Amino acid sequence: MTTNPTLAELADKATATRDRPAYGHDALITCDRLVRVFSVEGVEVQALQGLDLLVREGELMALVGASGSGKSTLMNILAGLDTPTAGAAQVAGHNLLAMSAKDRLYYRRKVVGFIWQQTSRNLLPYLTAAQNVALPLQLAGGRRSRARTERALELLELLQVADCRDRRPHEMSGGQQQRVAIAVALACDPAVLFADEPTGELDSHTAEQIFAAFRTANEELGTTIVIVTHDRAVATEVRRTVAIRDGRTSTEVLRRSEVDETTGNETLVAREYAMLDRAGRLQLPAEYTRALGMRDRVALDLEQDHITVWPDDSGHS
Ligand code: ADP
Ligand code: MG
Repeated sequence: MTTNPTLAELADKATATRDRPAYGHDALITCDRLVRVFSVEGVEVQALQGLDLLVREGELMALVGASGSGKSTLMNILAGLDTPTAGAAQVAGHNLLAMSAKDRLYYRRKVVGFIWQQTSRNLLPYLTAAQNVALPLQLAGGRRSRARTERALELLELLQVADCRDRRPHEMSGGQQQRVAIAVALACDPAVLFADEPTGELDSHTAEQIFAAFRTANEELGTTIVIVTHDRAVATEVRRTVAIRDGRTSTEVLRRSEVDETTGNETLVAREYAMLDRAGRLQLPAEYTRALGMRDRVALDLEQDHITVWPDDSGHS
């Protein structure tokens, strides 16, 4: 005979699970100690070295980092084009390490949308803008031709490139092509858009327009968006910028608006944070450690509400 648990037992159980929530349990994207090693002619390149990243549903965030820091490697994994050597990655409930070929196709068609740096990689050259946007809908099936065209025109309108509907890519500017590419990526209403340096080939004014298009998609459609960029100006337009260094997330800048009580003016206040991993490891910004000559070993003091880090004063070497 089974007996119903008592309230006290239920409460105990609830506390136990609350005390130990799984890493990233409430995130839309979870990367947990991701490692990707490439082997080229017997030489190993560690592109990702235990990268942790959480992205919440509805976020519009930027990933920045020097060339070769692992940004595209991460994007390719999240897009389902590549698999990590170790670690875990989950996007909208899909475990990226355990997808069958069929799951992978579904994932790439319906769950995520992609925009690449090379404008030419995003669109088919012999199709018009409207046909390019309607194509993923046709591949996904389920909509009639007329409904597909309507949806395509709606998206082109939303991204302010409706005038390009009947033009082929070579008849559009780079900026127009990228906005049409965003429409293509949004066609099947994906949970997440990934963009790898989408403004890399464009001038700053055009980059601004592309960024506005991403913001529109985020605000109007609620799509979660992750943009890789090395454009500092673009990075400051989002609330959260995560920096990748040597295949790991290193620091994060959060911006929030503050209203000045006397003038009523709204300003964005930015604050830089360092990542603390589950083992308690912390990466201090190189400018800070260099300024104080810190290396190899530092002294720590626990204060009531903070921790102080001192240069090594032990005299040992
Ligand atoms: P980013 O996009 O930040 O510039 P990448 O992710 O492209 O950096 O590259 C990270 C590192 O991994 C680099 O050292 C790069 O040379 C290496 N790498 C990336 N892709 C491959 C590959 N397919 N084969 C071998 N090495 C690669
Ligand atoms: Mg890259």
